[in-house]
Amino acid sequence: MEFYKDIHKITNPDSLNVLVNKFNQFSEDYIPKDLEKIAPYFNPEGLQLRHDARIAFEDMAYEANKEGIHLRAISTYRSYYYQWKVYLNNITPYISIEEYRKVRDKVSARPGHSEHQTGLAIDINDLEQTFANTPEGKWLTINSFRYGFILRYPKGKEAITGYDYEPWHFRYLGRELAEAVYFSNMVYDQFYSLHLDYNRMR
Ligand SMILES: [Zn+2]
Repeated sequence: MEFYKDIHKITNPDSLNVLVNKFNQFSEDYIPKDLEKIAPYFNPEGLQLRHDARIAFEDMAYEANKEGIHLRAISTYRSYYYQWKVYLNNITPYISIEEYRKVRDKVSARPGHSEHQTGLAIDINDLEQTFANTPEGKWLTINSFRYGFILRYPKGKEAITGYDYEPWHFRYLGRELAEAVYFSNMVYDQFYSLHLDYNRMR
């Protein structure tokens, strides 16, 4: 399975269960219509999520806070063009684009392929794999599905997702679907193609 080959244009961009990965791409001009700022206590910079994800994140962070768990949003919605900049952030004149892609693809999405363009993805607290061992990382692993979020890029699934382990990156799917994905032990790419890919079912 070669990533970024046989790419499909996303046809249901506003769906809460939309699948974005290295085979499914958003158009350049897709911007969610219901982006809202997260409450300043959980993100003072005014980062935005789609309405349902914003409510769910605040609810989760508020409940976690009662247990001494402090959750802060550090990256949420990103436009196509912002992702373009993020992807090319580390480029230098001394490396070919092919070499750059090989390294960069493991940690950063190409424009149109970032789950952050959905407005339903959120990076929480920090961008280090050691986050998994913090009380916050552990709490999220066990509890996030109850609020409608799943860990999108788990450890040991790199060959399927195409991304290194990201214990900080969560995707909002709604409670029902998040719970089903959580207990399936599948990554969302697998779950989607098995249960939600209507093109394949037809
Ligand atoms: Zn992320």
